[in-house]
Amino acid sequence: YGSGSISGIMSNEGCSRQNSVSQGLREWHIPYDELDKGQVIGHGRFGTVYSGNWHGQVAIKELHMEHGNDQCTLEAFKREVSTFRKTRHQNLVLFMGACMKLPRLAIITSLCKGSTLYKHIHILKDKFTLSVTINIAQQVAQGMGYLHAKGIVHKDLKTKNIFYENGKVVITDFGLVNLTRLCRNARVGSWLSIPAGWLCYLSPELMRSLQASSPQPAALPHTTWTDVYAYGTVWFELLCNEWPHKGLPPEAIIWQVGRGIKPSLAHLQASRDVKDILMECWAYKPEDRPDFASLQKLLDKLPKKKLARSPSHPIHLSRSAEC
Ligand code: ATP
Repeated sequence: YGSGSISGIMSNEGCSRQNSVSQGLREWHIPYDELDKGQVIGHGRFGTVYSGNWHGQVAIKELHMEHGNDQCTLEAFKREVSTFRKTRHQNLVLFMGACMKLPRLAIITSLCKGSTLYKHIHILKDKFTLSVTINIAQQVAQGMGYLHAKGIVHKDLKTKNIFYENGKVVITDFGLVNLTRLCRNARVGSWLSIPAGWLCYLSPELMRSLQASSPQPAALPHTTWTDVYAYGTVWFELLCNEWPHKGLPPEAIIWQVGRGIKPSLAHLQASRDVKDILMECWAYKPEDRPDFASLQKLLDKLPKKKLARSPSHPIHLSRSAEC
């Protein structure tokens, strides 16, 4: 991933287009000094997330920028953040503002107190009942449907970006994947760099567009349909407490998914309707995948009573692996 790849968002033309964006964002500017920064919550591709205080508890996502003092980087940052302003939904993290003064760029959101679905499923090994599983899936579909209605593609929907606390789902990091282009660790040389747990969410068309020369998630042709594919993987994780493709090396996953081979569901003890949702989200052709409004209807119709898995063992998939 070379510097040429970011020229699009950092060109002069791009810079001048930003003037109106900058004006609209002024009211969302939060002076860095006003933040009472607390403990580090974690590190991600973009930088470091802190808990903190700014008129109440907040999460502070501080970016490690590649070109820390570059005016065009700032404008590109503003353009990416500006999508946040449009979002107000109970299943989406609340955007409160951003520090938009170089060299400190940060995004301030509400602080999610629960655990991510990733932690519930893969670390805590929590087993949700079918009715809770369906309810979580419905809330994710609601948030995603809202984003798509606003013209926003998430581009990085995964269980790590979905918080769950006291029965409520909160989706984070929508649209932020573009910021990886600006971040310090974006350049990795001419090999394919695969963030842990990322491949399982990539649709066949995204798999086929992976190239060693442009491996960054932001460089891929994401669409609303690729979000739906990723949603299918979230649904799989919720049902099976596992990753799809468990045990397969990355190159085998890329080859299989790219050619339209889906993980076997033979051992998933679930009703036909439950599996059908999975298969529809994972449809090879993007246009065969349902939109989130249709998904909500399909989820509504599911019987919520019986937990469709073997009591002692969640699910046995013949070919499944951590990816
Ligand atoms: P990646 O960068 O690959 O997406 P990630 O999702 O772990 O990985 P970040 O989104 O930067 O990386 O998050 C770092 C940590 O901060 C994670 O543990 C994440 O759950 C946590 N986190 C992110 N946003 C919030 C938030 N609004 N409230 C509470 N914790 C958060």
